[in-house]
Formats: sequence, C-alpha cells, structure tokens
Amino acid sequence: MHVTRRDFARLAAAVSAATILPTSSFAQLGAPPAGRKIRYCVVGLGRISMDHFMPGTKLGQLGEITALVSGHPDKAKRVAAQYGVAESSIYSYENFDRIRDNPNIDAVYIALPNSMHAEYTIRAAQAGKHVLCEKPMANSVADCEAMIAACKKANKLLMIAYRCQLEATTLHAKRIVQSGELGKIQAIESANGFDIQPGEWRLNRQLAGGGPLMDVGIYSLNACRFLTGEEPNALSAYSSVIDHDGRFNEVEENISWTMRFPSGIVATCTTSYGSNMGGYIKLHGSKGQLTLEGFGYSGIHLTAHLNGAMHGDPGQNIDDLEQGQNPAQFVVESDYFSECIRNNRQPGPSGEEGLRDIALMQNIYESAARNQQA
Ligand code: NAD
Repeated sequence: MHVTRRDFARLAAAVSAATILPTSSFAQLGAPPAGRKIRYCVVGLGRISMDHFMPGTKLGQLGEITALVSGHPDKAKRVAAQYGVAESSIYSYENFDRIRDNPNIDAVYIALPNSMHAEYTIRAAQAGKHVLCEKPMANSVADCEAMIAACKKANKLLMIAYRCQLEATTLHAKRIVQSGELGKIQAIESANGFDIQPGEWRLNRQLAGGGPLMDVGIYSLNACRFLTGEEPNALSAYSSVIDHDGRFNEVEENISWTMRFPSGIVATCTTSYGSNMGGYIKLHGSKGQLTLEGFGYSGIHLTAHLNGAMHGDPGQNIDDLEQGQNPAQFVVESDYFSECIRNNRQPGPSGEEGLRDIALMQNIYESAARNQQA
C-alpha cells in the first residue's frame, strides 16, 4: 500500500493523540512547521536506509536528505538523483570528514554494520553534525562512552534509532502499564528472532559484535526496560548452537536470559538466528495481562486483559497504514529527531539509553559464557 501525505497527516494526528512522546510539542507534527527542514546525510545505503529511513524522511514534514556516504559511487549517484541530492554532496568513507565543509548538512544518519557506528558517530560529531545512529549503539561500552563524549564535546545531539520507543501502539502499552491497570507486574516473557541466511555481516563477530542478541534480542531487552521503567539488577543467561552448518562459527545461534528488576519483576527473553519467531512481549500483572505482538516495521498489535475486560489496539487504524514497505515508523523517527534538533532538546532514546543496553548485553554474554563452562 502506498502512503500519501494525507495518510501521513492522519497518522501524525493519531500518533499525537495516542502517545506520550518525550517531546511536548510533538503534536505539532500534523501541521507543516515554520522554518527550514533538517538536512540529513545518510551513511550507508543498505536496507534500513534505502527501504525505510530515506523514504520515511521524504514523506515526513521536518527533514530532507541532502547528502550521501557510500562505497559504491554508481549506486550513490542513482540514489542522489532519486532524492535530489547534489553530486557534490556524495561522499566516500575515506573523504567523509569533508562533510564539515558542507553547510547543507545538519545531521548524519548512520546505518552501517554495528562495529562502524562508533567511528562514524565520532567523525560526524567532530565535523559539527548531530547524529542519529542505528541500534545497537556500538559493540562495546567503551565505544558508547566515546560516542557520547564526542557529541557532548561538539555540543551536538545524539539519538539511537529505537523506533519502537516512538511507535504509537508501544506507547499505548506503556501508558496502560503506567496507569496501574495491570496491577503489579510480576513477570515478563519476550522473544524475537529470525532464520538468518548465510553470508550476512551479522554472522561476523568483528562487524556485528555478537549474534541475534545484538541484532534482534535487543528489542526484547529494550522493551522490558522501556515498558517497566526499571533497570535490571540481576541476570543469568544461556546460549547454544544447534545448526552446525557454518553460519554460527563466530556468533551464538540462540540465547535466552532471565533478568530481575528492583520491584521484583522477573523477565525471561529469548532470541534466535535459527527460528522465525514472531516478536512479542507479554507482561503478567496482578490484575491482568498485556501482550504486544511484533517488533517489526508494521502490524504491531496490542492485546490487554484487564480484570476480565479486553482492550484491543488503540482506536486508530494504524496497521492499515503500515502495510508493505510503508515507512510510517521512520516518518515519526526522522521527524522526532528533526524536532529535537530544531528545539535543541535531548531525544528520549539518547546515547545513554543505547549504552545501557550495550552494558546489559555484555553482562548477558558474560553470564552465558560462565554458564557454558559450568
Ligand atoms: P545492510 O547490510 O543492508 O547495509 C549495510 C550498509 O553498510 C551497506 O550499505 C554496506 O555497503 C555498508 N557497509 C560499509 N562497510 C561495510 C562492511 N565492512 N561490511 C558490510 N557492509 C558495509 O544492513 P542493514 O540491515 O541496513 O543494517 C544496518 C544497521 O541498521 C545495523 O546496525 C542494524 O542493526 C540496523 N538496523 C536497524 C533496524 C531498525 O529497525 N532500527 C532494522 C535493520 C537494521
């Protein structure tokens, strides 16, 4: 389904009505803002950039694509023509630092393999640009700290692209949890995974930093923290490889972990590169249950059983708007960061937020390694 600007105006209105986004003036999204758009330089022309972020930014109200960074000049020229980017604003990884001299760039969107996020965030900040960096933030806590420090030093904003934290149905779920309607949350279950094809950089430890945990398990981890508003204070993990077919020589195939939160909530999560799991998170409270099905680009469904009553998705027909390659979540993400830049406001999914997940994932890997030996 093709999404028009009219569709987006409906979506934006629905989002602003239904959500508790961390910027108070986000409700203005439905109306064209005064002033100029935020100009993005896209680093890496892979799937998430080409299929989602760039169309989302184009469809949005507050941003535009004005520069590209790619290792493939022909592809970059084709994409530049599509987005009206000047050929003089196409860069390679080698001459990337020249973006410093391009006043037509306000912010950089980094969509590279995980191990490259730190280097390009730091180089972008040093070039005087704001940074929207894909998840996972980096492969180590030290890299995350260096990214945060570089952006602070340059007085530039840093956001990690946790699109689910801006997604209307997920925010509706958070509001239900915060309202106390579920009673005291006792336990959480979550899973996310897919059957990976051989040859992906995601199977290379140096580039990916780990296996499905870094890539898709992070959605379960982040959702547990985001929905409860708590940080785990204890965890234990187990990993395994079942398919000895060459894909998992460097990274885990499966990993499950259990976390305990200060209130006593116990969360059990599983992620896999060997199974097409429909992503979900289920919260069990003393007065009811809430399930969010899907961490994907569309079709996130909420079901809540509260004291016997049943609550479905929020009133807006958001799923109808999000079929196929619809970039609706990326419209929201791109416009959200643009608004943060325009108002010099720290984004909710900050560098510090990204760092917390990386630190916890390191703990999860360390626990799995200890349990492997046991
Ligand atoms: P991809 O493989 O489709 O694209 C990666 C890009 O990096 C390509 O343009 C490739 O040419 C470039 N690249 C530069 N150096 C490379 C190298 N040494 N090896 C491989 N590629 C190199 O990957 P993707 O799926 O677009 O993922 C990119 C990032 O976005 C990852 O960090 C991933 O975790 C994240 N991501 C986020 C979401 C989301 O929903 N937020 C979804 C998918 C991916």
